[in-house]
Amino acid sequence: MVDERTDLYLAGSWVTAATRERLPVHDPNSEELIATVPGGTAADVDRAVAAARAAFDGWADTAPQTRAACLRRLHTALTARTEEITHTVVREVGTPLRIAARVQVGLPLTVLAGYVELAAQPPRPETVGNSLVLREPAGVVGAITPWNYPLHQMMAKLAPALAAGCPVVLKPSELTPLVAYLLFEAIDEAGFPPGVVNLVTGTGPEAGAALAAHPDVDVVSFTGSTAVGRHICHLAADRIARVTLELGGKSANVILPDADLPTAVRVGVGNALLNSGQTCTAWSRMLVHRDRYAEAVDEAARVADGYRTGDPFDPRTRLGPLISATQRDRVRRHVERGLADGGRLVAGGPDAPLPERGWFVAPTVIADVDPDAHLAQEEVFGPVLAILPVDDDEHAVAVANNSRYGLAGAVWSADEERAVRVARRIRTGMVDINGGAFNPLAPFGGYKQSGLGREFGTYGLDEFLQTKAIQR
Ligand code: NAD
Repeated sequence: MVDERTDLYLAGSWVTAATRERLPVHDPNSEELIATVPGGTAADVDRAVAAARAAFDGWADTAPQTRAACLRRLHTALTARTEEITHTVVREVGTPLRIAARVQVGLPLTVLAGYVELAAQPPRPETVGNSLVLREPAGVVGAITPWNYPLHQMMAKLAPALAAGCPVVLKPSELTPLVAYLLFEAIDEAGFPPGVVNLVTGTGPEAGAALAAHPDVDVVSFTGSTAVGRHICHLAADRIARVTLELGGKSANVILPDADLPTAVRVGVGNALLNSGQTCTAWSRMLVHRDRYAEAVDEAARVADGYRTGDPFDPRTRLGPLISATQRDRVRRHVERGLADGGRLVAGGPDAPLPERGWFVAPTVIADVDPDAHLAQEEVFGPVLAILPVDDDEHAVAVANNSRYGLAGAVWSADEERAVRVARRIRTGMVDINGGAFNPLAPFGGYKQSGLGREFGTYGLDEFLQTKAIQR
């Protein structure tokens, strides 16, 4: 049955969209149409921003404990919907069930719980000489999010913005709007004051661009591709609006010769293939010292070949489909280009068997990739790992930094100090050593063309605060 949504969430209620246009939502595993949602227009965005603007003074002045209580009720309402949200994410994104519950639902709930705490303890005024330095809500936030971890990316913006005292207009990805509807059902139940949180669905070029360019939006918080991020920056520049950008990556997993190689390769392949490789922080380049290169290539091929591809609802599945036929075709072209440029196919590839239906690409490993080649430079956003040999630590750092991106990365070594030395020289916002766990309170964001600003913890809160000095 096709779920036909005609409503948007504006000024505290579900209202019929001004537009009659409907956008299709597909299940990438069955390729079936599962829902339609409004293709919001600039008129819908105007209504939403006006509601947020009207709510600004009240929400900014609301006591921190009251804001924290609203976020706590949201946490409770979302927790009660865990199963439905998990099911919906698996259906509209294609993330295998066995990881969706933890990564797609558990993680955003953890992030929200963190901001319940932070909302209750706002930054204290500071005295600097004769000045009183205050942190104040930055204004109305326009949040634009992608499809790969939809609830997580919405939460990374909504929770800190609301905790800081800023009303929000959210424009989720048109490919995965159904989780946003569940989030807003929970928001409605949590009882935020009208206009504090608003939802406009629609395409990027229409609703997204209208939001980013809106004169009454003070902060644009965007997660998505570097190309669209650049465009958002231009739109915001006209009015000097603040912009936070979480963009693409081409992260390097550096395996030093003294590393526990089987673990480094197994975790590295798993990271590159997580969510079918549709992860901005994916370690899509594996850099291995020549002494252990052949061993690493064999192991990576073995691990990737062991990934079971198929129906994401099947608990045995480890690799689901890609989000769309367009994305699948794009990934296939990257693989063909990687092979044409001299890469050596060691797992998967264009002729590997696939399920009959669904937008799948087989888990693919390509060795001997030149550091300047297309496959080492471009973000693939699919289940494709490039392996590159390196001569020593110095060369590993040079190859890791040979990228216009600077999001994440990893270093593996038996000697933690050596790993830290290498990690410090890698020009990215995040580096994990020997499989260090994701920390939802640590700053998340990129150097170079991977973004501007940081999400999560107090660093994420800072993006939604202005600083004022009062001299006495
Ligand atoms: P995308 O840039 O195509 O779309 C992201 C969002 O921007 C969507 O809501 C889309 O509707 C909107 N958009 C598109 N064109 C727009 C325009 N002209 N004006 C305003 N908004 C517009 O990205 P995607 O395909 O949804 O996501 C994949 C990309 O996101 C990858 O490059 C990935 O690396 C990146 N990403 C980055 C992070 C991070 O935190 N760094 C996290 C997830 C994804």
